[in-house]
Amino acid sequence: MKLSVPAEIQVLSETLKKAGFEAYLVGGCVRDLLLEREPKDWDITTNAKPEEIQKLFSETFYENDFGTVGVVTESENPRLKVVEITPYRIEGKYSNARHPDEVKFSDTLSDDLKRRDFTINAIAYDASEGKLIDEHGGQEDLKRRVIAAVGDSEERFKEDALRMLRAIRLSAELDFAIDAKTAAAIANDAPLLEKISRERVRDEFVRVIQSPRPMQALYVAEKLGILKYVIPELVEAIGVDQNQAHAFDVFEHLLRSLQHAADKEWPLEIRLAALLHDIGKPPTRRWSDEKKDWTFHGHEVVGAKMAKKIMRDLRLPSETIEIVTSLIRWHMFFSDPDQVTLSAVRRTIANVGVDHIKELLNLRICDRIGTGRPKEQPFRLRKYMSMVDEAMRDPISVAMLKINGSRLMELGEPAGPRIGWILHALLEEVLDDPKKNTEEALENRARELMKMTEGELKEMGEKGKERKGEEEKAEIQQLRMKHHVS
Ligand code: ATP
Ligand code: MG
Repeated sequence: MKLSVPAEIQVLSETLKKAGFEAYLVGGCVRDLLLEREPKDWDITTNAKPEEIQKLFSETFYENDFGTVGVVTESENPRLKVVEITPYRIEGKYSNARHPDEVKFSDTLSDDLKRRDFTINAIAYDASEGKLIDEHGGQEDLKRRVIAAVGDSEERFKEDALRMLRAIRLSAELDFAIDAKTAAAIANDAPLLEKISRERVRDEFVRVIQSPRPMQALYVAEKLGILKYVIPELVEAIGVDQNQAHAFDVFEHLLRSLQHAADKEWPLEIRLAALLHDIGKPPTRRWSDEKKDWTFHGHEVVGAKMAKKIMRDLRLPSETIEIVTSLIRWHMFFSDPDQVTLSAVRRTIANVGVDHIKELLNLRICDRIGTGRPKEQPFRLRKYMSMVDEAMRDPISVAMLKINGSRLMELGEPAGPRIGWILHALLEEVLDDPKKNTEEALENRARELMKMTEGELKEMGEKGKERKGEEEKAEIQQLRMKHHVS
């Protein structure tokens, strides 16, 4: 069988072979070639040792504990710029479900294939001979479309518990099932995932979320008992029934919302926000005798805090955390284009920031689809978007005010935190009435504000916030009445 291997890879393996060594493509790239998918990266395995590999190529680097040598090629293709060549390895003893106590090299390909996670990842390919070495039935499993551990599943997960999450990730990416024995072993060994570093968990979790099928994958993860070790708060949402507007419990609603983001191929931030936007519902659920239904007051505030903690715990980048938290905090914004005022639209934009208003709307779309309700008619969304465009012509951030901190200092305000409070108080007023955004009006108002004591200024800020909260509540109330939801 001849697989199509790029010339750069062909050259590398020829070089190893001419020097008297063995060389095989192995792992994800062979699997992907057999599935006719484009490999993400190319891995070569060989009986040469790191120093021997380095001698054969002009530009290499070797700075890890696994014997992997990075060979720099002249390829234009970013996936081929660095090719990793790793000596055959045999896995040493594991005493911590995390990594072997030591990394041992081996002289045989067979040893190396035995230590790999799944049969479909344990096929080697000799590119010059066009020969596959498949000692664990990988091709058969590719045909059956299953993920099955190499050797004894239980043992393999006890060596490295991350493999359980890798099984879920691969099944989501490839749309494969998990082999029954392998699944049973995961169900058994799930708690071992606790020993894995959060960074490794994060990498696989993010790939699950970024895959085309995150809903299915998280369902399976839950059924097999490992979701609890990734995001325990999601498990708390199972069986949490909602009000009459919802057909699904909170858990299913969140997964369906996420799946819609994946169907739309929206970026990670929207996917995470969709998955976590109602995570504050379980702890805020109260029965209302008056409404004869469940209420979730403040779930967006509680949920934003919970989501932040979850994402920090998963060591996600702080920029991502910030965006997702803010999308969740403001996801209850009022968006009925027939009723919303421009000043309410300006506030919504000011809340999430100009750069993220489109994402907030996309999150709303996911939320809506996730309830099983019909999707918002496109013309209504377009109408809201055009209001956003209109609102953006007016000032919606302190930076857009016709006054700034240095001008306040020229007017006599000493440098310090009061400057920020005054600017925010001015913005509050301009959000309500953009006509006030003139140098003259702002300076006059600033002079009044400057006379206020620290306490008064702070109180004004608080009042502003409270008023915002009240307005928001009134808007939400309207929304509920309109849609008969709460
Ligand atoms: P992709 O490149 O699409 O992410 P991949 O299968 O190549 O998928 P990598 O993380 O790049 O995944 O790993 C390369 C290969 O190394 C795998 O195919 C597998 O053979 C082996 N491998 C990776 N992680 C483990 C592990 N935790 N335990 C055993 N073998 C592993
Ligand atoms: Mg790979």
